[in-house]
Amino acid sequence: MKVILARTAGFCMGVKRALELVLKAITENQGHIYTYGPLIHNPQVLELLKERGIAILNPGEMIPDGLVVIRAHGIPPQERAALEAAGGRIIDATCPRVSRVHAIIRRWARQGYATLIVGDADHPEVRGLMGHTGGRGYVVATSEEVAALPELQDVIVVAQTTQSGSQFNSRVAEIQARFPQARIFNTICDATASRQGEVQELAQQVEALVVVGGRNSGNTQRLVEISRNAGIPTYHVETEQDLNLEEMSRYHAVGVTAGASTPHWLISNVVSTLKHAWLFHPGSLINYFYRAWRFVLKSNLYVALGAGSLSYTSCLLQQVSPMWSYFFMAFFYVYAMHLLNQFTDEASKFNDPMQSMFYGRHRLFLLSTGAVSALLALGLSLYLDPVAFPFILVMSGLGLIYNFKIIPERLATVTHIARLKEIPGSKTTFTAVAWGVLAALIPVVCSDQDVTWSTAIAFFFVAGMIFIRSGLFEILAIEGDRVVGKETLAIALGKERTLNLLCAGTIIFMAVLLLAAWAQLIPSLGYALLICGLYTLGYLTLYRQGILESGLFLETLVEGNMILAGMLAFLWDPFHYIF
Ligand code: SF4
Repeated sequence: MKVILARTAGFCMGVKRALELVLKAITENQGHIYTYGPLIHNPQVLELLKERGIAILNPGEMIPDGLVVIRAHGIPPQERAALEAAGGRIIDATCPRVSRVHAIIRRWARQGYATLIVGDADHPEVRGLMGHTGGRGYVVATSEEVAALPELQDVIVVAQTTQSGSQFNSRVAEIQARFPQARIFNTICDATASRQGEVQELAQQVEALVVVGGRNSGNTQRLVEISRNAGIPTYHVETEQDLNLEEMSRYHAVGVTAGASTPHWLISNVVSTLKHAWLFHPGSLINYFYRAWRFVLKSNLYVALGAGSLSYTSCLLQQVSPMWSYFFMAFFYVYAMHLLNQFTDEASKFNDPMQSMFYGRHRLFLLSTGAVSALLALGLSLYLDPVAFPFILVMSGLGLIYNFKIIPERLATVTHIARLKEIPGSKTTFTAVAWGVLAALIPVVCSDQDVTWSTAIAFFFVAGMIFIRSGLFEILAIEGDRVVGKETLAIALGKERTLNLLCAGTIIFMAVLLLAAWAQLIPSLGYALLICGLYTLGYLTLYRQGILESGLFLETLVEGNMILAGMLAFLWDPFHYIF
């Protein structure tokens, strides 16, 4: 199935700004934080904010202290004054484009003009606009409401910023027929207008359209209306779980758009699920194969196999005889730690709901195999060399406490860091170092060989590959991670800069391999492993160009690089197989 994603889908500037102001307040630990009404109309994001302790204040409700965030829709000035009088501190996240409409209304209201607002009377933005009309405001949504207006002299007309263009034009025509002197201000936001225009364009190119967004989000509902009016089957979903895949698999081309309050991770999941809709013919062979593959990938068996492969590769890079025990120690350790992290990762249910459901369904199996794997990794390290045991023990301990509060409260208020995961870029760095120790350092320690330059290069190779892989996964999870308060590299640097860093890192690790092989610090396998660097640059470029979306295929491709390294090592010296 061809899936066309609208360029304008997802958070608009005003929503992004409001969310960022709230997250900044959380990070700065500014005490109790409330949003004045739901911050955005998206239940998944609201649930995340609730988990971070953000309470919702109902309009008219007051608090004696704490911080109140005024959402992007804005509020009536009377309610703002009441909040200030009650003593609450205020962060004004009103979208600048909504503030501009407030200013227009105030300016003309001061001159005695009545304001006609084309919009939905119950919408919070319209309630806010009404507050600036000086008591001379009227909301009109239908022809009947225009006809029922009293006789007015001086009139201005504005639009709710997310109103549909055709609805606004129809009401304006009726208003001008009654009040020819009316001054018209088309205040529909550009973001809304282009989002709606794109739906009309898409409707010409696809057989069906999927609109992602909250059920009570006005601008999402309008996108649904516009698409239905364009005459194509339209599906309004909140998450990919609302998709009827059997029905969707009938289409050859489907468009996807989203409301202004829909986070990128939900859109990505819908796009990725649609791309795989053809696999969902129940009972087909490919369906069984797909499910089996998903199990291998989501259970972490695939990434664990990658860890074993990297251990094998780095043994050959250091000319250490590879052994099954090294392979399995890496395999069991990575399997156990990945499971542990994913079970304690609050963001995964938002970033990857499919994975979260999978973990819920196979909880017992995964937890028990994870615990057995951790014991096997520790047992193997003890059996191989008593020196390897403390390495594995310390790394397992760090993995266990990574998500838990370990910094005393007093210190945490100064450093703003209570958990290891809150150190910016910690996950990518810790993971890369842990894999380097596991795959490059432990085999050389256990084999009683000296630590040489080749160990440093093998360590750099493994840690570099894992740093780049984890960095890309952090980019994919950036919005969910930001909302749950993770301090990832992608959040610290931003998507573009992180991608640049990953590309630069890949080029550096290729140069190091090339020079080390040329200087004979490592065997000629170093030349062959340059293919892994090219492979990495390939998937980073495809992702940057939007050709690769998050989902099973991307995961398979990225994790496959480690297996590729193992295969190259095996082909380089097939007689040095593990024994
Ligand atoms: S749709 Fe436009 S006006 Fe409304 S919050 Fe977004 S950017 Fe602001």
